[in-house]
Amino acid sequence: ENTQLKDIVAHAKEYGFVFPSSEIYDGLAAVYDYGPNGVELKNNLKQLWWRAMTQLNANVVGIDAAIFMHPLTWKASGHVDGFNDPLIDNLDSKKRYRADVLIEDKAAELAKQGDQAGADILLADMGRLLTAEDLAGVRQLIIDYKIMCPVSGTCNWTDVRQFNLMYSTQGSAVEGDAAQIYLRPETAQGIFVNFLNVQKSARMKVPFGIAQIGKAFRNEIVARQFIFRMREFEQMEMQFFIRPGTEMEWYNKWKETRHRWHQAVGLPTDKLRFHDHDKLAHYANAAVDIEYEFPFGFKEIEGIHSRTDFDLTQHQALSRKKQQYFDNDLDPETGKPYGNYVPYVVETSVGADRLFLATLCQAYTEETITEGEGEKEQTKTRTFLKLHPALAPVKAAIFPLVKKDGMPEKAQAIFEELRHDFRLLIEDKDAIGKRYTRQDLIGTPFCIVVDGQTMEDDTVTVRHRDSREQTRMPIAELRNYIGEAVSF
Ligand code: ATP
Repeated sequence: ENTQLKDIVAHAKEYGFVFPSSEIYDGLAAVYDYGPNGVELKNNLKQLWWRAMTQLNANVVGIDAAIFMHPLTWKASGHVDGFNDPLIDNLDSKKRYRADVLIEDKAAELAKQGDQAGADILLADMGRLLTAEDLAGVRQLIIDYKIMCPVSGTCNWTDVRQFNLMYSTQGSAVEGDAAQIYLRPETAQGIFVNFLNVQKSARMKVPFGIAQIGKAFRNEIVARQFIFRMREFEQMEMQFFIRPGTEMEWYNKWKETRHRWHQAVGLPTDKLRFHDHDKLAHYANAAVDIEYEFPFGFKEIEGIHSRTDFDLTQHQALSRKKQQYFDNDLDPETGKPYGNYVPYVVETSVGADRLFLATLCQAYTEETITEGEGEKEQTKTRTFLKLHPALAPVKAAIFPLVKKDGMPEKAQAIFEELRHDFRLLIEDKDAIGKRYTRQDLIGTPFCIVVDGQTMEDDTVTVRHRDSREQTRMPIAELRNYIGEAVSF
């Protein structure tokens, strides 16, 4: 219950899930690398999402678009002009902050002190000022509320200025204004610009979706909370193209579908909640976040947005290429085909890294157990990752009880028999108890022990991570047994 983020960060590093980027050079802020267990867990999450989208839905197909796109893409999407964070510097501490985050933190502080009404007023004021792009007003709020202001002393702030979050680089083959190219800040636009290519080549009929997993980049100034907010991260996005006027129906459908999926991968209902956006982005007519309760509070893991025809209409205007679909279904009111229109879009957008962090936080379990009997009885804390077996980096570890009597060879034979179906490993060092502990720490659901009896009757014990119970079974049953548990 009292798991803190620092426990998760330490665990993630120690057991090969997540390392700070270029750590030998003291790291790079808000950039992280995935280690041997981390990459397996992340791949498993991505694969489950991919399957949930493109395999379980006959009307959703995938693409893999490039990170670099024509610069006009970002003009059309609104990112060049509008993808900004309001920044402010404190001249005393010489530290840079996001003005909106300072104000949100202050509101959270007020709410914590019991002044919910005051918190609401502050947030509403901020929303109004940001919408009106009244940056001087935002600065004044920070001053009026004495944010970060020592009791006796000054709080000396610079002006608030808009800072674009896109990373840009030179090197485009395009001349002039368009010479600057960007690292994509979201994967969605790669889907929009390919809307007609996909619709035609895969002969899709509206309603249909396009799914994509890929890297996105944002120059986040406030880098906090480990892999929750990174500068290079991965998104799993799906744009669902629909007939105008049907958006609320699809919005609600995807909202429920995605909520259920998060529960299926192991995030419990009571740790998930919906958070409707009060302030809608320029492209949306409805938006909701699915939030998970991290050790640092409820935070967004996925956004579901009704994006209207904003993106396709914008691309149509800037590219001068029609982004229309001919719908030959009959409109029951007129009895005629719906005809040509620019489809509306409902999007589901989840961060693979945030989902990874939520999964890790949820799986991290500390329990008090009693071991041994009589005089030898002792209580200790057992730490293990209670991952859904489908997500576990290693599905089963095989332990020859001792390194002799044919047991290592038997373990090797089991490995070879099952390695095409599951990711396994053989562990022959240390006492069995220690080996169990090591597997618990990385969330391996099964440990298979090869012992003296195995050499006689080809049975093994299977030890279960969560219950620590052991079952004896024939080697020949392992494939089905593990297969059933790890299926999703
Ligand atoms: P936030 O408000 O936390 O910055 P956002 O609303 O800007 O997020 P979207 O643009 O809706 O996020 O992106 C969709 C998803 O991408 C988010 O739900 C989140 O899981 C993920 N995501 C966005 N920014 C980051 C980031 N900097 N690091 C990791 N994941 C991110």
